[in-house]
Amino acid sequence: MKIEKCEKKIKCDFYGCKNYAEFSVQTNKFFANKMHFCKECLNGLYLEIGKNLVPKAIKTPFKKGDKL
Ligand SMILES: [Zn+2]
Repeated sequence: MKIEKCEKKIKCDFYGCKNYAEFSVQTNKFFANKMHFCKECLNGLYLEIGKNLVPKAIKTPFKKGDKL
């Protein structure tokens, strides 16, 4: 997966977003081959991804002493 600056004037791929894309996200599998996002949407996406991925580093308190 690769994120690069979008040089062309392409509309942001987020549904309902009217901004021009600033970044292109290139993937091999998911989505279409290339998606274009504006800064706002990419940032929002990043925050959402962060919400799901970052807590992985925190140890879950359920392992020890929590058996029935
Ligand atoms: Zn956008």
